[in-house]
Amino acid sequence: MAPKKKIAVMTSGGDSPGMNPAVRAVVRMTIHMGCEAYCVYEGYEGLVQGGDFIRKMGWDDVRGWLSEGGTLIGTARCMAFYERPGRLTAAKNMILSNIDALIICGGDGSLTGADKFRSEWPSLLEELVANGELTAAQVKPHQHLNIVGLVGSIDNDLTGTDATIGCYSALARICEMVDYIEATASSHSRAFVIEVMGRHCGWLALMAGVATGADFVFIPERPREHDWKEDMADVVRRHRKLGKRKTIVIVAEGARDKNGTKITAEEIKKLLADKSEGGLALDTRITTLGHVQRGGTAVAYDRMLATLQGVEAVKAVLDATPETETPFIAINENKIVRKPLMQAVAETKKLAEAVDSKDFEKAMSLRDSEFEDQWNSYILTTNVMMGDKVLPEQDRMKIGFINVGAPAGGMNAAVRAAVAYCVSRGHEPIAIHNGFAGFSRHHGDDPLGSVRPFDWLEVDGWASKGGSEIGTNRELPGESGMESIANLIEEYRLDALFLVGGFEAFHSISQMRKARDQYPSLCIPMTLLPATISNNVPGTEYSLGSDTCLNELVNYCDKIKQSASATRRRVFVIETQGGRSGYIATLSGLDVGASAVYIPEEGISLEMLNADVNHLKNVFKHDKGQSRAGRLILVNEKASKVYNAKLIADIIREEAHDRFESRESIPGHVQQGGVPSPMDRCRAVRLAIKCIQHLETFGTNAHNHVKKDPSSTTVIGIQGSEVVFTPMKELEETGTDWPNRRPKVAHWMGLSEVVNILGGRPDYPKPE
Ligand code: ATP
Repeated sequence: MAPKKKIAVMTSGGDSPGMNPAVRAVVRMTIHMGCEAYCVYEGYEGLVQGGDFIRKMGWDDVRGWLSEGGTLIGTARCMAFYERPGRLTAAKNMILSNIDALIICGGDGSLTGADKFRSEWPSLLEELVANGELTAAQVKPHQHLNIVGLVGSIDNDLTGTDATIGCYSALARICEMVDYIEATASSHSRAFVIEVMGRHCGWLALMAGVATGADFVFIPERPREHDWKEDMADVVRRHRKLGKRKTIVIVAEGARDKNGTKITAEEIKKLLADKSEGGLALDTRITTLGHVQRGGTAVAYDRMLATLQGVEAVKAVLDATPETETPFIAINENKIVRKPLMQAVAETKKLAEAVDSKDFEKAMSLRDSEFEDQWNSYILTTNVMMGDKVLPEQDRMKIGFINVGAPAGGMNAAVRAAVAYCVSRGHEPIAIHNGFAGFSRHHGDDPLGSVRPFDWLEVDGWASKGGSEIGTNRELPGESGMESIANLIEEYRLDALFLVGGFEAFHSISQMRKARDQYPSLCIPMTLLPATISNNVPGTEYSLGSDTCLNELVNYCDKIKQSASATRRRVFVIETQGGRSGYIATLSGLDVGASAVYIPEEGISLEMLNADVNHLKNVFKHDKGQSRAGRLILVNEKASKVYNAKLIADIIREEAHDRFESRESIPGHVQQGGVPSPMDRCRAVRLAIKCIQHLETFGTNAHNHVKKDPSSTTVIGIQGSEVVFTPMKELEETGTDWPNRRPKVAHWMGLSEVVNILGGRPDYPKPE
């Protein structure tokens, strides 16, 4: 029998939240694939030191690592590895430990080091043999260095991937701090200059600006074209004139002006506080966030990203042949992909050089398309006024905004961004309060409904607000009265309708599309931005609010697990929402390391319960004390008509015969979330603007031609690596499982397997 392959994993460079989940995934997937797992402790330093720094890992050694911040296998800046002698020793240690492949999770520096190591590898082996440190026989099995990169960095600074492991956690910390600061800024009518990390990459500063609706941001890649001092003073003055009581400026630590001169927080403060004539004279404070940005446990997205990328890295290692180019694992929109490491490293270097040489056009072009999109979104949504982008009078549209279904995180951010975009183009955005129910009843004194233009000052404060400020309602237009809806669209002369909501919103557009023959006034373009925690809208793999919900569930589960550690060995059975879609149950299972997840798509059978109960009995039987932290089982509210969370917990308790405990727990509406996650807020802004741009393509008086145009009723969605508008007709007819209110194909079903593998769940009989 061939010896088992030995796969090692290492974390390097600055620590980032999600490194531990990545290591856990690599270790467990390696073992699952029949190989041996190793960890190199303390980054490249461990590789150079060798010996005890390279340790074999078992399945249980990484238990509980999903919820741990930082990196438990340590990281270090290693000077020796910059030089060839250091890399020579590292190569020797790898061969002496018989390591076949190395997975490195780190930032651009660490991956540059990895790339150098790989390119030098043959000459390092030659040298080791030539100077007698190793024999030809020892190096023979290691002719090709099998390396895979995982990008772990809070800066999101590697070209070729939309997100690095840790960047959304850092963004979450920043936004949390900015949200706190806003409250005090508003109370005292103060200005705050907030400095965030990012030497060459302004992703954190930009996204924090988008998510919080900051007044001004400074990033290294895109200095202001004019004098930044004048620009900033103008914007701040205008916002204050509108009545804003707070001023927030976010500056990346590497921000510069168009001449390449560094812009400091101190300089910005001086300008904001300037008391001379014509100065802003604001009471101004500086907050430098520093290391809190790295701190804490990883957010849901980073846990998912780290886990899926760790799994993919092991697969890449096993697929590699001597001809395979060294890859790193990237994500583009929603798709995990392998890409050439060398190219990404080279482009990242070029980007830093472009910033240094003041070639800012090039720097921006080397960032991902989402970055440029978000920059444009930011400019549009904060510098709201009719400027050079305004349309001629005859092309300006009257657009109705409506929220439908349950509230979801990001709904307000979407409305705010779309309103801002409309204003910048000269359109007239109209708020329809409380869904279709409110629309149909707005006449008379029914307090439920009203239809009115947006007040910008009010809307401007919605960037980080949860719930739905214009009110939302589940009622469909068919229930509210299609005729009255059609008449109102006519009465208000709406040129287009922008909907934000979940499956009910999808159903609403479908009803209106089908009623067009009967009511010609419904022949206006309509588009839906999906927003529901259930993430069950056909046409997209992601709905606003689902990320907020996952974060709530992850926090909830972490706390529950911790509570178990203080008591006895315990299994918690947690009931999640999600309707007939098992998305949030499965994803939160992935993020917290559930022992089992029950979802409506699979149902629950007695055989499954039996297999899982036996597995738990086995786990606790062989447990030597590590399992005090408790086990989690997630069950979707509609997974079974009979086996609900309580019954499952009772069955487990009965079968455990006092060897362990079992309890059910139902988080309920907590899952809708309080403050929306930065990811939901940022995506809301980007997608909402795209929606209005799409509606805009139809122009005013579209009645005569939209009826036959399938793209006049659409859903915007993220599908794989793209953002697309899909016609309703197509989705209604081929993509929708109407009785179960979900898409026919669940894009995430493959993730169930990952949850089961990494949770150590045994094979269980699948229901028919
Ligand atoms: P962060 O994004 O947090 O800065 P990073 O991976 O970029 O993370 P660095 O300190 O740049 O952090 O690199 C980590 C380690 O990688 C270094 O201490 C060094 O051992 C190795 N390394 C970095 N650059 C190179 C290089 N050009 N050649 C060889 N090794 C390198």
